[in-house]
Amino acid sequence: MLLKVLRQKDLFLLEINAMKFESPCTNQENQQSLRGLQQRFENLSDLCTLKSGYALNRGCPPFLVFEWFSLKKTEYSSQNQKKTLPLQLINDRYNNMGKIILTGDRPTGRLHLGHYVGSLRRRVELQNEGNYDKMFVFIADAQALTDNADNPEKVRQNIVEVALDYLSVGLDPEKVTIFIQSMIPELTELTFYYMNLVTVSRLQRNPTVKTEIQMRNFETSIPVGFFTYPISQAADITAFKATTVPVGEDQEPMLEQCREIVRRFNNIYGEVLVEPEIMLPTNQACLRLPGTDGNAKMSKSLGNCIYLSDPSKEMQAKIKSAYTDPEHLRIEDPGHVEGNVVFTYLDAFSTDDDFREFWPDYQNLDELKDHYRRGGLGDVKCKKFLMKVLDKQLEPIRQRRHEFEKDIPEVFNILKKGTDAAREVAAQTLHEVRQAMRINYFDDLSLIQQQAEKYQ
Ligand code: ATP
Ligand code: MG
Repeated sequence: MLLKVLRQKDLFLLEINAMKFESPCTNQENQQSLRGLQQRFENLSDLCTLKSGYALNRGCPPFLVFEWFSLKKTEYSSQNQKKTLPLQLINDRYNNMGKIILTGDRPTGRLHLGHYVGSLRRRVELQNEGNYDKMFVFIADAQALTDNADNPEKVRQNIVEVALDYLSVGLDPEKVTIFIQSMIPELTELTFYYMNLVTVSRLQRNPTVKTEIQMRNFETSIPVGFFTYPISQAADITAFKATTVPVGEDQEPMLEQCREIVRRFNNIYGEVLVEPEIMLPTNQACLRLPGTDGNAKMSKSLGNCIYLSDPSKEMQAKIKSAYTDPEHLRIEDPGHVEGNVVFTYLDAFSTDDDFREFWPDYQNLDELKDHYRRGGLGDVKCKKFLMKVLDKQLEPIRQRRHEFEKDIPEVFNILKKGTDAAREVAAQTLHEVRQAMRINYFDDLSLIQQQAEKYQ
């Protein structure tokens, strides 16, 4: 019987190949700790199966003994490692089990409704649920420069706009670390190392980059920085060992690319990086909110946005001219709700309460859609309802923005504090990365000694 014991905080974790143990302990306290530990190990279920465990009453603190860890992940068994997980690995994973949330936005303009439903709204919920260890939100200015190299002023001016949008939707700098990407040089360094792990053809296959290249009419004059921004995004995510990335659907290929880089890195250099998971909006309409012109995506670069900070009048004017159903010419004509941005926005924003409050003729959106499909319902009425729904959600955001606008130096102060804190975290990861890649020459005494011996 092989038995290794390691003390961790007030618990002992035991790695056991195959074993029988003394009778299970009935001590209530021990059993409670055991249950707690078992629950925590459930998080490891992608790595190993915990068949059963006993608490052994061998004084204080209790021993917690696990009968069997069998590997599920082939990546470990394929490396001819022991059938049980190396304890160190269990502990590393165990230590890293906390949820770390990271997400960001490019300072290419103020934030719009697409950002709100695609990501911002979820961030605020996550922040308020408090069910995470750390949460980072960043302003991706270096990424914005990849397609705005000749317009740094645009990026510079929008830093504060995005920060104001963050604060106005309710992100709380006490709970969330808000930082500026370019102020953390470790991210650039990490990007450079990752570039060796990705092929040009793999980047060319990234569907989001393909679409964005077309949108920007880059054709063959694609800036290298823009072409490789998914790699820099992987660096942003992994430098903070993020486990969870709440973003819109357009980011799915980026996350996939990031996971590939993590796997490649860990395979070659050892387990340092954490594979992140995407967290998509659960509401279909929010995955990729269309622009007011009916274009597939509301995007700052396409000029089809309703901004969170638009005054009510401006928002209303944009809704008035928004794309609906081109075949719905007269009120009595049957209409289409699919591809009709007014209905997509209602899908994303309206609630049954809104109907009670603003339009009690209908109980809910399904009833309204049915009427529109049947014919006899004009666009103007639907648009007016949408304006009320939007105003109800946007007004508190606008108000909060006005408050923060009164103290811009404080907004920069928040960014500076967040950036300093974030840099410490990224620096620690870079330390681990350099060590794993064996490029930590000056810290590595064995290297110096070995080289000295070679020349003696
Ligand atoms: P740009 O045109 O400069 O790329 P953008 O409007 O696409 O700007 P980003 O800063 O690239 O905005 O995106 C930030 C976040 O907002 C990402 O998580 C992205 O998925 C989400 N997002 C952006 N636009 C939408 C949208 N229309 N619907 C849902 N999510 C969106
Ligand atoms: Mg974008």
